[in-house]
Amino acid sequence: MTARRPRLIRLIRRPDGNGVGVFSITQDCRTQYYVFKEIPCAIGGRAFAVHRIGLANVYHVRVGAPKESSCECLGFLRHGRCKHVQGLAALIGHGML
Ligand SMILES: [Zn+2]
Repeated sequence: MTARRPRLIRLIRRPDGNGVGVFSITQDCRTQYYVFKEIPCAIGGRAFAVHRIGLANVYHVRVGAPKESSCECLGFLRHGRCKHVQGLAALIGHGML
């Protein structure tokens, strides 16, 4: 059993004039692409609507201090963390968003 490979997040397209951008998350040789758009957030942190290309699901992701972070995906509901929050936090941490 080998350890899981590190997850890689890439900003594919910076947010355009409408605030819509694209990032990808690569793990275990699979890459998934997400369209995202920052949305207003009055309760702390930064909020994004994230839509995985090819699927109908839209997740509302909030990124900030731990208590300001949330996501609507199953992973976050189960474990309190997920690749969407971690990925966007990484892009923000690198000053890319
Ligand atoms: Zn999530």
